[in-house]
Amino acid sequence: MAKYQCPDCGYIYDEATGNEHEGYEPGTRFEDLSDDFACPACFVRDKEDFALLEKSSLKK
Ligand SMILES: [Zn+2]
Repeated sequence: MAKYQCPDCGYIYDEATGNEHEGYEPGTRFEDLSDDFACPACFVRDKEDFALLEKSSLKK
């Protein structure tokens, strides 16, 4: 499972947890999200703007 971060507000979409508020079941892969997916936090950034987070970068 990977995580993707919004470059604008820092929201992180975690494939392992999904986003139930937006209707994405836990385990939903980012690439399987609809193409019109927009950041659920700021609604500014689109799917293509999200940056893949390396797992190692999360351990600080
Ligand atoms: Zn955002």
